[in-house]
Amino acid sequence: GCTAKDVIAALRAGAATVAEHREELVQLDREIGDADHGENMDRGFRAVVDKLATAAPETPGAVLKLAATVLISTVGGASGPLYGTAFLRAAAAAGDVEELDAPTVAKLLQAGVDGVVARGKAELGEKTMIDALSPAAEAARSAAESGADAGKALAAGAEAAHEGAQGTEPMVARKGRASYLGERSAGHVDPGARSTALLLSAFAESAG
Ligand code: ADP
Ligand code: MG
Ligand code: MG
Repeated sequence: GCTAKDVIAALRAGAATVAEHREELVQLDREIGDADHGENMDRGFRAVVDKLATAAPETPGAVLKLAATVLISTVGGASGPLYGTAFLRAAAAAGDVEELDAPTVAKLLQAGVDGVVARGKAELGEKTMIDALSPAAEAARSAAESGADAGKALAAGAEAAHEGAQGTEPMVARKGRASYLGERSAGHVDPGARSTALLLSAFAESAG
């Protein structure tokens, strides 16, 4: 299972991946948005890591809640409130348990999906982070039901998220800034779907 320490390590791994892929995310957002997604995410996850250097939240839920608060106040753009809401809902779903098992990890991912949908109103196929996050939650649930541990469930989720992100390439954006381009948004991977997939891979590798 994942303790608070494991969740902190996963967030640090996520921040490292975001930093490493900052230019790629900027470039994806340059093609169909305003070229700031890499900067937004890097600023936000750096701030989360900074905060975790001094704060010592003691449960997975408390770690996720702290991350949510920092992300909401530092990422900005459309993605900040959406990622913030995802982490906040995941924190609420974690409650005050000491350790996250695989079914709980799947439940947290689904809570994140529900939060993003409640806030952003995107449906599957509208070329957003939902196209990565929703299949990830589904794959994690299915892996957990087959007896996978938390790390393996996250890995299954990450794999589905990468497929989902790649699947946004031919889509026409219906939500967010990219939707202003209409048909011209097709032919590019959605930056938020890509960042979601990158984060989940980092979390899975850290947990595995
Ligand atoms: P902004 O578009 O304000 O510059 P970012 O570039 O940081 O913000 O984030 C853009 C990403 O946010 C998109 O690639 C998409 O994945 C996601 N996004 C935008 N609007 C929505 C929405 N309504 N629902 C879900 N995701 C969305
Ligand atoms: Mg942008
Ligand atoms: Mg912007």
